Amino acid sequence: MRSFLLVIFVTSTLLASAQKKSPASNLDADISAMVKEISADSIRNHIQKMVSFGTRHSLSDTISATTGIGAARRWVASKFLQFRKQTGANMTVELDPADVLPGGRNTRIPRRVIMKNVLGTLKGSDPNDDRVLLISGHLDSRATDVMDSVIAAPGANDDASGVAVVIELARVMSKYKFPCTIIFMAVQGEEQGLIGARHMAEKMKADKVNLIAMLNNDIVGNSVASETGNKNDKTVRVFSEMVPSLETEDEKKARESLRAENDSPSRQLVRYIKEVAEPYAKGFTATMNMRPDRFLRGGDHTPFLQNGFVAVRFTEFNENFTQQHQTVRTENGKEYGDLLKHVDFNYAANVARLNLATLASLAKAPGKPQAVKMKVNLDNMTYLTWDAPASGPKPKGYNVLIRETYQPFWEKTIYVTDLKADLPYSKDNYYFAVQAVGDKGITSQAVMPVPTR
Ligand SMILES: [Zn+2]
Repeated sequence: MRSFLLVIFVTSTLLASAQKKSPASNLDADISAMVKEISADSIRNHIQKMVSFGTRHSLSDTISATTGIGAARRWVASKFLQFRKQTGANMTVELDPADVLPGGRNTRIPRRVIMKNVLGTLKGSDPNDDRVLLISGHLDSRATDVMDSVIAAPGANDDASGVAVVIELARVMSKYKFPCTIIFMAVQGEEQGLIGARHMAEKMKADKVNLIAMLNNDIVGNSVASETGNKNDKTVRVFSEMVPSLETEDEKKARESLRAENDSPSRQLVRYIKEVAEPYAKGFTATMNMRPDRFLRGGDHTPFLQNGFVAVRFTEFNENFTQQHQTVRTENGKEYGDLLKHVDFNYAANVARLNLATLASLAKAPGKPQAVKMKVNLDNMTYLTWDAPASGPKPKGYNVLIRETYQPFWEKTIYVTDLKADLPYSKDNYYFAVQAVGDKGITSQAVMPVPTR
């Protein structure tokens, strides 16, 4: 009887604190305005220009003003320089060189080559906010023979579509201010073995950059499947890893004791995209694909995961394999090749809207709560504690997120203003996480607790 009363008491206390309403969870007016500015026409223009370089193969011409990877990367840099003007010189533009040698894991590199990632860095307005967000697409393209650097390789969808998303976000977001830094990146060397992305991931790790999320957009402009002809222009797949590629012994121990294989930080980012960004994209949805990538394939988010960062991949729901990685040709009356005419620009624009809502929400939100802990004891309660975020806008409070163990998404949110929550929910039956809540109810990424005595 006594314990029954205790539960009633705790529950009513909880309800009372839950009624202290999370500060508005409506859509943010600035983010809505930015999302509205994304234009399918503008995305078509970006893709058309990239296709005009003939090939953007990583080993193609770097001197010509009109063809090859050199002209393509200088053009992307010129777009960033154009956007820089609307930032009050608050954007830096770089062609970041990587000296790539043949041999070792560089099996698709026949000779020494200097690759250059194009970076537009929109500096944060708060000098004390060290958080960095990164959005990326790959500029290089290929034909059937991955080593052919001369033959036409339009790469309209793979991956001019992803780079167009990056450029479009830079165009719109550079008109606004964010507390933290946002890097817009077009990498080289994806098709030759994720070379540009690996260069950047290793550099960011060595420089101890506080990169809180990396969004890889690769093949985001097609809505019709080869073979079946199925069309889906309302859904984009978001891929994330189950078990982190890199984790410390302590992180591994915590994951194993909680059986939290569906709660890697990258998986939390996908839940965030679904819960926070999707409402801005009006009818366009993201799938939470519970794989790091498609079958037998990898992408530019992979080296970021291997270096311990939170990273996800956006890819269209249906792929067309008569277009992807195919030399442009007609065979037995069938057309092959990754041509501009196959791209669904409205679809790519919706992918851009989802990316924008994700980046802008993360940028405006407080940082993640720190040192989130769950007390180890055998009872039917769950006691959580945490510290305030180390950087970013100051939180107004915190959401404790709860779901049953078989559920993919958070089911219950309890808002608290303390740095702790005593919950009448058994840790055997539920998963928990904590996120910081900022101004206008904008939330941070969620953090799972570490069991502690
Ligand atoms: Zn690609």
